[in-house]
Amino acid sequence: MPGTAQHAPQFEQTIASDLQFGGVGLHSGSEVTLRLVPAPAGSGIVFRRTDLDNFEIPAVGRNVAKVSYATSLMRQGVLISTTEHLLSALIGLGVDNVIVEVDNLEVPILDGSAHPYVDAILNTGLKGQRRKREYIRILKDVEVHEGNKFIGVYPGEGYAIDYTIDFPAPIGREVFVGDLEAGDYARLIAPARTFGFREDEPMLRDMGLIRGATDQCAIIIGGGQVQNGDLRFPDEFVRHKVLDLIGDLALAGRRLWGRVVAERAGHAMHTALVQRLMRDRSAWELACRYDQPHEEARTDVPLQPTAPPPIEFTAGT
Ligand SMILES: [Zn+2]
Repeated sequence: MPGTAQHAPQFEQTIASDLQFGGVGLHSGSEVTLRLVPAPAGSGIVFRRTDLDNFEIPAVGRNVAKVSYATSLMRQGVLISTTEHLLSALIGLGVDNVIVEVDNLEVPILDGSAHPYVDAILNTGLKGQRRKREYIRILKDVEVHEGNKFIGVYPGEGYAIDYTIDFPAPIGREVFVGDLEAGDYARLIAPARTFGFREDEPMLRDMGLIRGATDQCAIIIGGGQVQNGDLRFPDEFVRHKVLDLIGDLALAGRRLWGRVVAERAGHAMHTALVQRLMRDRSAWELACRYDQPHEEARTDVPLQPTAPPPIEFTAGT
């Protein structure tokens, strides 16, 4: 397949060792401990509720529950909520197989970005596995339209993303175009934080949401300006939407091979696209990115990724 991008590893990967995170759920406000555990090749990303007899919920589209302000998974009535930032970190770094143990119903929000996950995973390293990674290679256009919102996937090389948002001031219209295969997820996307409008706070609290929200876990906007410090990127808002998109599209079960275009979309549109794609079996195929015969399955080789460059926060500290 000449011309194929050569940036991604050919083999599946897991993490080199266990990692633990503690924090609170953004919406539930519940304390939660989350542990990432290496998993065998072919097992995918599987959540495990350690507080419920290790009940397992695979991170796949058929388990998508409700998606309004966060993406949640549910299987047989058991919920795991706000999965998108962690899944984004895993897909962004090329972690194919991992068990995510949580002792409560929501993934911790941490600083509102994927950076804490990415930082810890890059520090411990990735481990190559003996199975070739299969991608979901897009064969034909699949689109979801809703009013002036739009999202679509198209055949193409790499994992190209073109995201446009349009919010009230001070955000306005922002566009981000990049390729996950060629780009530096850890530096360009992972640090971008979620954001919320102060005016929406009473409504969200009435809905039983954002009980765990603080100024430390989101960009807070009020009165037409950011209220809690400097942005990490001038266009941090659209970068966070790209972060969410990568996390939500992870629910296709594998990394995409194609081009994604989104305008004013959100979790509901992202997951609707996953479900439409999964239903239309003629729209994609499973494909390995490299097929060179000399690349036979290797013994497990530790892959120590290059440490990411330091994040250039705009905050003057
Ligand atoms: Zn988010």
